[in-house]
Amino acid sequence: MKILQMHVDFIEYTPVKKEIGRAEDIEPRTVREDEIVVLFTAFEQGDDRELAAKAVSETKEFLTKLGTKRVLLYPFAHLSQNLAQPSDALSLLLEMEKDAKSAGLDVHRAPFGWTKALQVKVKGHPLAEMSRSYSHATVTVQAPKPRAKRELSAEEAMARLRKSDFGNLPETDHRIIGERQDLFSFQEVSPGMVYLHEKGLRLRNILVDYLKGELAEGGYQEVSTPSLANTALWRVSGHSDHYKENMFLTELGNEEMGMKPMNCPSHFLIYKSRKWSFRELPVRYATFDPLYRNELSGVASGLFRVKALSQDDAHIIAMEEQAEGELGKMLDLMERVYGVFKLGYKVKISTRPDDSMGSDEEWERATSTLIKVVKSRGWKYEIKDKEGNFYSPKIDVDIKDSLGREWQCGTFQLDLQMPKRFKLAYTGSDGKEHTPVVLHRTILGSLERFMGIMLEHYKGVLPVWLSPVQARVIPLSDEHVTYGQAVLRSLTSSGIRAEGDFASGTMGAKIRNAQLQHVPYMLVVGKKEEDSKTVAVRSRGGEQKFGVPVDDFVTTVKADMTARR
Ligand SMILES: [Zn+2]
Repeated sequence: MKILQMHVDFIEYTPVKKEIGRAEDIEPRTVREDEIVVLFTAFEQGDDRELAAKAVSETKEFLTKLGTKRVLLYPFAHLSQNLAQPSDALSLLLEMEKDAKSAGLDVHRAPFGWTKALQVKVKGHPLAEMSRSYSHATVTVQAPKPRAKRELSAEEAMARLRKSDFGNLPETDHRIIGERQDLFSFQEVSPGMVYLHEKGLRLRNILVDYLKGELAEGGYQEVSTPSLANTALWRVSGHSDHYKENMFLTELGNEEMGMKPMNCPSHFLIYKSRKWSFRELPVRYATFDPLYRNELSGVASGLFRVKALSQDDAHIIAMEEQAEGELGKMLDLMERVYGVFKLGYKVKISTRPDDSMGSDEEWERATSTLIKVVKSRGWKYEIKDKEGNFYSPKIDVDIKDSLGREWQCGTFQLDLQMPKRFKLAYTGSDGKEHTPVVLHRTILGSLERFMGIMLEHYKGVLPVWLSPVQARVIPLSDEHVTYGQAVLRSLTSSGIRAEGDFASGTMGAKIRNAQLQHVPYMLVVGKKEEDSKTVAVRSRGGEQKFGVPVDDFVTTVKADMTARR
């Protein structure tokens, strides 16, 4: 059985004439379906109910990931040279329709045996098209193939350069907030990835700088490694076996290369670049490098699920007896960080999945250490059965935002497998070589996603310390632009993130605009301010203070930044 699966904005077909004698008797009419997954299906010799059931169950899985139930079965003989007898094909098609209905899908079906006029508009995301093939010899899922092999004309290419449109989203959606505050955009040429504008990058850097301060105190070393590595690296790490379908692969000469979906293997290479004594352990590597994961992006979930992301990632290579202490320090750090954002959290422990490496005894040891550390803090926890990584059990921490939604952000893993696979070693006090353990951890998780969560958590009203623009200077009229510029210079040279609205326009409109963007402070300057070398401070909450010396204003904002409020 060959299936070409397409996620479409719409499909419209009209049965034109009967193609074969066994064609279904129907009244031909034009049918249009919107927002649906179409399965163009060709039944082949040897196909049976078992394969049909398998195809339905995989389709259902895929639809669940997309978050839809709508599917159209569309008989399409052109996919195969080895077609089943029409009567067999029709009965399998009806079988699939029944199976899909009883699996709870919203099933539609195009008539069998007809030549049909067809129009489709396929969605732009990378998994919108996929071909699948089922037979009793093998069942394979092929990676989606690029749609247009032929080169685009200049006009066609130009027409593809479009910003994604989020016109219908609610005001509280981070994509709307991001657009209004000029933080980022999504572009159709990079589906599931974000373009950070200056202020969006500033916001991410504020998060990163804050974390870097914590890392320096925690004895971490920050490192950076290439995005691309030969598949050999992913063979050793096991990602080729357990994660390949989510990796972006490419070629360099004759070599297959993969974009890194995780930082761990590269960190191990840095560790392996020299010898280590037990006295030097633990070694703590931290990074904010970009990662690439070809996961279903749920099509349009904005920053919540991007394919190109960066994490506040770290790997601690330690002796096994140090693991408990290191885990404790990580959880201390996590409590501090979540405290700053006023986030509640919930702890879960994920145990060994079926598809995993290592012995039962090792998993038992690692899992019981995690449980011990969590219990020793008096924390309640929930067990997530079989939800661990393929290489380790983990402590997962879900944060709770101001809207009561839960997001899994923190993860802390005790890994006894990767060190063996990568032959990591240190010289012990006995002068012999030993294998260390690795702790993987991230606290905020994907920084892009965390930004999205924070924008919604604060409803766009970021606290002063997080605001990409903390103050906007607004002159009362054109005559006061020069003084306004002087004020702006002294703010920025004091480390305040400020900008000026010096374009033509009324002060009232400029204040409304700043308020719409939730800029914490508007500094209005007119003749009085210029004469007394002060500013009039108007907060986004509506409070006003007149005659404030610039230095005093700087001190106020600095105090907010230090206190992270
Ligand atoms: Zn890792």
